[in-house]
Amino acid sequence: MALTAPLVWLDGKVVPVARAGVPLMAHAAQRGSLVFDVAAWHVTPRGRALFRVDAHVERLLHSASVVGIELPYDHDALKQAAIDVINANAPKTDGLVRWSVFFAAGEPDLLPRSKAAHVAVAAQTLQDAPRSRPLRIATFPDARKAPPEVLDPTVKAAAAYLGPMIAKQRAVAAGADDVVLLDAEGNIAEAPIANVFVVRNEILSTPPLGTVLPGITRRSVLEIARNLGIATREEPISRTDFQGAAEAFLTGTSLPLAPIGVIDGLPLPAKTPVTSRLADALRSVRRDTHEGYASWVTFT
Ligand code: PMP
Repeated sequence: MALTAPLVWLDGKVVPVARAGVPLMAHAAQRGSLVFDVAAWHVTPRGRALFRVDAHVERLLHSASVVGIELPYDHDALKQAAIDVINANAPKTDGLVRWSVFFAAGEPDLLPRSKAAHVAVAAQTLQDAPRSRPLRIATFPDARKAPPEVLDPTVKAAAAYLGPMIAKQRAVAAGADDVVLLDAEGNIAEAPIANVFVVRNEILSTPPLGTVLPGITRRSVLEIARNLGIATREEPISRTDFQGAAEAFLTGTSLPLAPIGVIDGLPLPAKTPVTSRLADALRSVRRDTHEGYASWVTFT
């Protein structure tokens, strides 16, 4: 669980979180047009290490531009806002920083009446120890990602999470921890807030871009794997191949690499050499204790 820290950056000022509300009739709430992005920091002996903040800000700017929100701040200001809100809260534990960009004014017409955009950046501290047991995943033939013709999968907008949320409720009701959604062809797409990887014949595969969010952890894991000499592929993965994988895991900023132990009630093999190697490497890369990846970490 993440707990929102008391101070929030709102339109250029650090203010108490209670000041950063969204009005009832805001387009952001009524139509789900809020766009956001989330980056992680770790508390390390050398300070708070923020992971790939530039990539997250770039993706936020991309999401806003697709939704038609003109941002009053540039890349550097949005990056500095994240650093400022983390430092203002001075967290003692690891956490997540979340940029939200939204139309607050007006009535919930389909097209927002006012295009004045607000920007809030909140820090959230992580309260729980990371999950110790592998994930139980459910898939359903009819639980699918919206195809790219319906919703651009590269955009992180609130409305995009409604279908995945309903599918996750169904998975949880069936006794699983999470759901993996299929694409329009019935191949594996992604989990609601994570990308999917499998290992088969010692090859690490993940679904290609086109129907999934270009996850920053996904991209990082692919690069780390290649540097470790692990063969990688971005290719369609059928539901049957997923269920029969030698290893499988989810990646995402908040996870960051979560092994999967059960898919649709069937256990995966207990030995996970590739997953463990990648999880260890990612753990040290994110804390800047792994040689060669210093440019991915910003100390606040
Ligand atoms: N897919 C979706 C739909 C997501 O919301 C997320 C979380 N941002 C991810 C994948 C993982 O992306 P990242 O590694 O950049 O957090």
